[in-house]
Amino acid sequence: MKKILYLTTVFFAALSGQAVAQDAPIFPKGEKAPNVNHVGNVWLHELSEPDSTFNYGTSVATFDPGARLNWHTHPGGQILLILAGTGYYQEKGKPKQTVRKGEVVKCAPGVVHWHGATPESGVTYLSTTPAQNGKTIWMEKLTEQEYLGGKK
Ligand code: MN
Repeated sequence: MKKILYLTTVFFAALSGQAVAQDAPIFPKGEKAPNVNHVGNVWLHELSEPDSTFNYGTSVATFDPGARLNWHTHPGGQILLILAGTGYYQEKGKPKQTVRKGEVVKCAPGVVHWHGATPESGVTYLSTTPAQNGKTIWMEKLTEQEYLGGKK
Protein backbone atom coordinates (compact mmCIF):
# COMPACT_ATOMS: atom_id res chain seq x y z
CA MET A 1 0.00 0.00 0.00
CA LYS A 2 2.84 2.36 0.89
CA LYS A 3 4.48 1.60 -2.45
CA ILE A 4 1.31 2.43 -4.37
CA LEU A 5 0.98 5.71 -2.49
CA TYR A 6 4.61 6.54 -3.26
CA LEU A 7 4.26 5.71 -6.95
CA THR A 8 1.08 7.77 -7.18
CA THR A 9 2.89 10.72 -5.57
CA VAL A 10 5.84 10.40 -7.93
CA PHE A 11 3.48 10.15 -10.91
CA PHE A 12 1.59 13.34 -10.05
CA ALA A 13 4.78 15.19 -9.14
CA ALA A 14 6.20 14.27 -12.56
CA LEU A 15 2.98 15.35 -14.26
CA SER A 16 3.15 18.78 -12.66
CA GLY A 17 6.86 19.01 -13.56
CA GLN A 18 7.91 20.08 -10.06
CA ALA A 19 10.05 17.14 -9.02
CA VAL A 20 11.84 17.02 -12.34
CA ALA A 21 12.49 20.71 -12.95
CA GLN A 22 13.36 21.84 -9.41
CA ASP A 23 17.09 21.14 -9.42
CA ALA A 24 17.83 21.07 -13.13
CA PRO A 25 20.36 23.78 -14.07
CA ILE A 26 18.88 26.70 -16.00
CA PHE A 27 22.05 27.42 -18.00
CA PRO A 28 24.72 24.98 -19.24
CA LYS A 29 27.73 24.63 -16.92
CA GLY A 30 30.14 25.75 -19.63
CA GLU A 31 33.89 25.18 -19.64
CA LYS A 32 35.91 24.06 -16.64
CA ALA A 33 38.12 27.04 -15.79
CA PRO A 34 41.89 26.54 -15.52
CA ASN A 35 43.16 26.85 -11.92
CA VAL A 36 44.75 30.29 -12.31
CA ASN A 37 42.69 32.46 -9.95
CA HIS A 38 40.94 29.85 -7.84
CA VAL A 39 41.31 26.62 -5.87
CA GLY A 40 39.14 23.56 -6.65
CA ASN A 41 36.75 22.89 -9.55
CA VAL A 42 35.01 25.87 -11.15
CA TRP A 43 33.04 26.04 -14.41
CA LEU A 44 32.42 29.32 -16.20
CA HIS A 45 29.89 30.07 -18.91
CA GLU A 46 29.82 33.57 -20.35
CA LEU A 47 26.21 34.24 -21.37
CA SER A 48 26.69 37.78 -22.63
CA GLU A 49 29.90 39.71 -23.32
CA PRO A 50 30.04 43.46 -22.68
CA ASP A 51 29.31 45.55 -25.77
CA SER A 52 28.67 49.22 -26.58
CA THR A 53 25.03 49.03 -25.46
CA PHE A 54 25.23 46.61 -22.52
CA ASN A 55 28.56 47.45 -20.95
CA TYR A 56 28.71 44.53 -18.53
CA GLY A 57 29.51 40.84 -18.73
CA THR A 58 26.97 38.25 -17.61
CA SER A 59 28.22 34.80 -16.66
CA VAL A 60 27.22 31.70 -14.79
CA ALA A 61 29.81 30.19 -12.43
CA THR A 62 29.49 26.74 -10.88
CA PHE A 63 31.71 25.72 -7.94
CA ASP A 64 32.23 22.22 -6.57
CA PRO A 65 32.26 21.98 -2.74
CA GLY A 66 35.49 23.51 -1.41
CA ALA A 67 36.19 25.60 -4.55
CA ARG A 68 36.84 29.33 -4.04
CA LEU A 69 38.25 32.31 -5.90
CA ASN A 70 41.37 34.22 -4.88
CA TRP A 71 40.96 37.67 -3.35
CA HIS A 72 40.07 40.17 -6.09
CA THR A 73 38.39 43.46 -6.94
CA HIS A 74 36.10 44.61 -9.75
CA PRO A 75 36.77 48.21 -10.88
CA GLY A 76 33.09 48.54 -11.86
CA GLY A 77 31.64 46.39 -9.04
CA GLN A 78 29.71 43.15 -9.40
CA ILE A 79 26.28 41.69 -8.60
CA LEU A 80 25.91 37.99 -7.81
CA LEU A 81 22.52 36.24 -8.07
CA ILE A 82 22.72 32.89 -6.30
CA LEU A 83 20.97 30.27 -8.43
CA ALA A 84 21.70 27.05 -6.53
CA GLY A 85 23.52 25.65 -3.54
CA THR A 86 25.28 27.41 -0.67
CA GLY A 87 28.40 29.54 -0.83
CA TYR A 88 30.52 32.12 0.94
CA TYR A 89 31.08 35.81 0.20
CA GLN A 90 33.53 37.93 2.13
CA GLU A 91 34.82 41.48 1.88
CA LYS A 92 38.28 42.12 3.34
CA GLY A 93 38.03 43.14 7.00
CA LYS A 94 34.41 41.96 7.33
CA PRO A 95 32.87 38.67 8.50
CA LYS A 96 32.41 35.90 5.97
CA GLN A 97 28.76 35.60 4.86
CA THR A 98 26.93 32.42 3.92
CA VAL A 99 24.90 32.96 0.74
CA ARG A 100 22.10 30.73 -0.51
CA LYS A 101 19.95 30.11 -3.59
CA GLY A 102 17.70 33.12 -4.18
CA GLU A 103 20.00 35.68 -2.53
CA VAL A 104 21.57 38.73 -4.17
CA VAL A 105 25.05 40.06 -3.34
CA LYS A 106 26.16 43.55 -4.36
CA CYS A 107 29.89 44.14 -4.37
CA ALA A 108 30.88 47.81 -4.68
CA PRO A 109 33.61 48.93 -7.12
CA GLY A 110 37.16 48.39 -5.84
CA VAL A 111 36.20 46.38 -2.73
CA VAL A 112 38.63 43.49 -2.08
CA HIS A 113 36.60 40.28 -1.70
CA TRP A 114 36.26 36.61 -2.57
CA HIS A 115 33.42 34.18 -3.18
CA GLY A 116 33.06 30.46 -3.58
CA ALA A 117 31.42 27.27 -2.33
CA THR A 118 31.27 26.04 1.25
CA PRO A 119 33.29 22.89 2.10
CA GLU A 120 30.06 20.83 2.15
CA SER A 121 28.02 22.33 -0.70
CA GLY A 122 28.62 23.56 -4.21
CA VAL A 123 27.24 26.91 -5.37
CA THR A 124 26.09 28.33 -8.70
CA TYR A 125 25.58 32.02 -9.34
CA LEU A 126 24.90 34.42 -12.16
CA SER A 127 27.27 37.39 -12.13
CA THR A 128 26.89 40.76 -13.81
CA THR A 129 30.15 42.68 -13.96
CA PRO A 130 30.35 46.21 -15.43
CA ALA A 131 33.37 46.44 -17.73
CA GLN A 132 33.75 50.17 -18.45
CA ASN A 133 36.32 50.75 -15.70
CA GLY A 134 38.42 47.68 -16.44
CA LYS A 135 38.63 43.97 -15.82
CA THR A 136 38.80 42.00 -12.56
CA ILE A 137 42.07 42.53 -10.64
CA TRP A 138 43.27 39.24 -9.14
CA MET A 139 45.20 39.06 -5.86
CA GLU A 140 46.57 36.40 -3.50
CA LYS A 141 45.04 33.02 -2.68
CA LEU A 142 42.99 32.65 0.48
CA THR A 143 44.73 30.91 3.33
CA GLU A 144 42.97 27.83 4.77
CA GLN A 145 42.33 29.89 7.90
CA GLU A 146 40.65 32.63 5.86
CA TYR A 147 38.52 30.08 4.02
CA LEU A 148 37.48 28.05 7.06
CA GLY A 149 37.65 30.75 9.74
CA GLY A 150 35.14 33.42 10.61
CA LYS A 151 36.82 36.78 10.26
CA LYS A 152 39.82 38.50 8.75
MN1 MN B 1 33.88 39.00 -7.40
